[in-house]
Formats: sequence, C-alpha cells, structure tokens
Amino acid sequence: MKPIQHANIAVIGAGIVGLAHALEAAKRGYNVILFERDQYALGASVRNFGMVLPVGMAPGAVHQRALRSRNIWLEVAREAGFWHEPVGFMILAYRPDEMAVLTEFCERGPALGYIGQLLDKTEVLQRCAGANPDGLLGGLWSPTEMVVDPREAVRKIPAYLARQYGVTLRFGAAVTAIDLPYIEAGGQTWQVERALVCGGSDFETLYPELFQASGLTRCKLQMLRTEPQPDNWRLGPMLATGFTLKHYPAFSLCESLTPLKARLAAEYPELEQWGIHILASQNEAGEVILGDSHEYGLAPEPFDRTEIDELILFHAQKMLRLPSLKISQRWHGVYAKHVEQAAVIETPAENVRVVTGLGGIGMTTSFGLAQETFEAWA
Ligand SMILES: Cc1cc2nc3c(=O)[nH]c(=O)nc-3n(C[C@H](O)[C@H](O)[C@H](O)COP(=O)(O)OP(=O)(O)OC[C@H]3O[C@@H](n4cnc5c(N)ncnc54)[C@H](O)[C@@H]3O)c2cc1C
Repeated sequence: MKPIQHANIAVIGAGIVGLAHALEAAKRGYNVILFERDQYALGASVRNFGMVLPVGMAPGAVHQRALRSRNIWLEVAREAGFWHEPVGFMILAYRPDEMAVLTEFCERGPALGYIGQLLDKTEVLQRCAGANPDGLLGGLWSPTEMVVDPREAVRKIPAYLARQYGVTLRFGAAVTAIDLPYIEAGGQTWQVERALVCGGSDFETLYPELFQASGLTRCKLQMLRTEPQPDNWRLGPMLATGFTLKHYPAFSLCESLTPLKARLAAEYPELEQWGIHILASQNEAGEVILGDSHEYGLAPEPFDRTEIDELILFHAQKMLRLPSLKISQRWHGVYAKHVEQAAVIETPAENVRVVTGLGGIGMTTSFGLAQETFEAWA
C-alpha cells in the first residue's frame, strides 16, 4: 500500500490561477498542497506580457475583480520580492475615430468606476518616451495598471506560499486521478477534503467529459521580445493603439466603437484574420514585449507563422519608437477561453471545483477571482 499524506485542500496547477487559489486558501487557514506537473509552470502564465490591466475589463464585477487583484499583486510582489511597477496604461490615438472612442470612454467611464484621463499629443509624449509622434492625436491614460515579469513572478510566488503560509509544493507531480478523498499524483496518494483543478488549457487529463459541453476552447497567441533597450531606456506606461479598443470589453460601452470597428475591419483585413492587436510592455531587464495574435481552436497549430510576427512588428513600429527593435525571443502561448464568460467554475464532483477559461485576463483577474471562489465555497 502506498503511503497516504493529508491536506485540507489540493490545488492542481501552479499557473497564476492555481497560485491565486492556493494563496487565498492558505490565507483562510487551510492546509494546502499545490501540485504542478512540470518542474516549474510553463504554461500561459509565464508566456504573457505581465500586464495587470483593470481598465480593459468589462464594467461591473470583472472590473472590480481586477482592481482587487491589482491590490493583491502589489502586496504579493512586495512580500515575495519580485519586480513590479505601477506604470499605468496608455492607448494611443492616430485617427479621429480612435480619439472619438477615447473621448466617449472618458465621458462615460467614470460613472462605472474607470478613471481614464484624455491627453493631447504633447501630454502623451511627456509621459511616453516610446510613443511614435508621427500622426499622433492624443491618448487615454489610465493609472490603475501595473506590470510584472511573469517568468519571475510565477517562479517566486510558490516559494513565498511555502515560506509564508506553509503550503506544501509538489512540482514535477502530475495529478492523474481525483476520487475524493483520494488524489493520485506523481506516484503518491494524498487524502484531501477538497480539490481545486486549475489546469489551464489542459482539458484532457482530468474531467475530459466536462469540457465537451463547457463552451471552452483554446486560443494561441504569438509574441516577441526585444533585446534589453540600451542605456536603461524606459518605455513608461504599457502601450496600445486603436486595435485594442476592439479587443477589451470595457470599450463596448462606447457607441463610437461601432464605426471604428467597421473601419479597422475594412482597412486591415490581415490583422482581422489573425486577431492581431498591438500591445507593448517592458520588464525590469529593459526588454520590450510585443504582441499579439489570436487563433482559436481546440488543436492549436504548433508551428508559428512568420507572417504574424511581421505584421506585429510592422504595426508596432507605427506606435513605437524604440531605441532597439532587435528581437531576441519569439514564442507562442495558449490559453483556455470561454466564448462568453470571463472565467469558468465547474463542480464535476462533490468538493471539487474546476477553475479555468480566464482567456486573456488571467494575470489581471486571478487573485480577485480566487476570493470569489472561496466566498462561494465556504
Ligand atoms: C501570450 C499571452 C499573453 C497574455 N497576456 C496577458 C496579460 O498581459 N495580462 C493578463 O491578464 N493575461 C494575459 N494572458 C492570459 C493569462 O496568461 C492566462 O489567463 C493565465 O495565465 C491562465 O492561467 P492558468 O493558471 O489557468 O493556466 P496556465 O498558466 O497554463 O497554468 C496551468 C498549469 O496547470 C498545470 N497542470 C495542468 N494539468 C495538470 C495536472 N493534471 N497535474 C498537475 N499540473 C497540471 C500545467 O502544467 C500548468 O502549469 C496572456 C496569455 C498569453 C498566452
């Protein structure tokens, strides 16, 4: 008979969703075991921009969740000792219809809790060393955004959980079966009262039948990273352009978005085809992260498209003036995405929750979502 070890709660998956839930469980006094099948997390949570971006979130519950998450990020980053910067977010407008959406957002947004500020060209350039001034009309400045280096954060949070809260870490241990109170992982049997499955885009290993009717799919995104910018050059706020207004639900409250969407679709069918919008963030090392594209489907193509990288770089240069555009790394990431919901929480068996499907907002919302999971699961 294999030895049996005990915990109150098992969290499966050490991406940001699993880490956030392990933290919340530990704060509530539970004895937590965190399983990760790889030696360290390699999924979407280490492949992203590191953007914590409340301003893009849908008004109401998701925006509030993001604001709470941001506060928890600040606390965790300080205590776990990883780099983070509250740099804010700037959306640049190069066309009057983009400026119209930003203006409308600044008029309507405050009633819904957004605190964006409309800036003219001069004010934008004062804040953004990297913004391309050619044809720039102005921008939307939001101060609520922060950036982390996801590779560093996702590696340091587990050690912090172990140190601060006594969370037991089992990395390199895939969970292969959950039949509570028993869990099989890495050749060991654990006895737990509850299990939280935060396996990201792995729909097959545990509860595959759940996903057939779940409305979940996968999305593949291509990304690029420059070499460290010379002479400690800093980008300032994270940057985006008019394409991003289509992408984040916050801007759907603007009636002026409809004509902008129509113009962008007609003018840039190649961006439409690959779901490209342009974002830039900078990490502590000075590297600028550029992306991204969106290709949906359950079986993401393993091979990256040069065409997508070229489109991202071409359009990034329209908004950015970087001292160095030398690309040092290219990669893609895959996340789980629900067609309508900002997250999926399922109960496949008694005392088991599956939490996934956060799409492109997992870094922004996971900590707040974890609070909600446990409030509903007291
Ligand atoms: C390119 C890209 C850019 C993005 N940019 C941003 C951004 O800037 N801001 C933002 O808010 N969001 C962003 N996102 C979205 C965000 O990264 C995801 O929403 C989030 O990382 C999902 O976290 P997760 O924990 O669900 O998944 P993952 O990070 O994939 O983690 C799941 C983990 O579970 C483990 N696992 C799975 N099955 C098992 C098992 N049976 N046993 C043990 N372990 C298991 C896996 O090994 C993995 O480590 C981006 C995503 C991508 C791909």
